[in-house]
Amino acid sequence: MSRAAVRYVRHTLRHAPEGGITAEAFCVNDRCRATSGPMNDADSAQMWCLTHTGRTGHELFRRVFTDLARVSREEDES
Ligand SMILES: [Zn+2]
Repeated sequence: MSRAAVRYVRHTLRHAPEGGITAEAFCVNDRCRATSGPMNDADSAQMWCLTHTGRTGHELFRRVFTDLARVSREEDES
């Protein structure tokens, strides 16, 4: 019979600022479905929406924001 010692280590998941934010907008008009594609900031995605509305009159968009996250091991507090 063997014995094993198991130690649980706490980890935390946090936003990684160096990864920034990626924003993407999707026109939800049934006949259009245009997309901005991934953009490096929310302002660029917003500008794409405003320009798209100006050209087409389409007013409703789905927006998706993603970030980069990093898991780090918590230090022992003892
Ligand atoms: Zn559209």
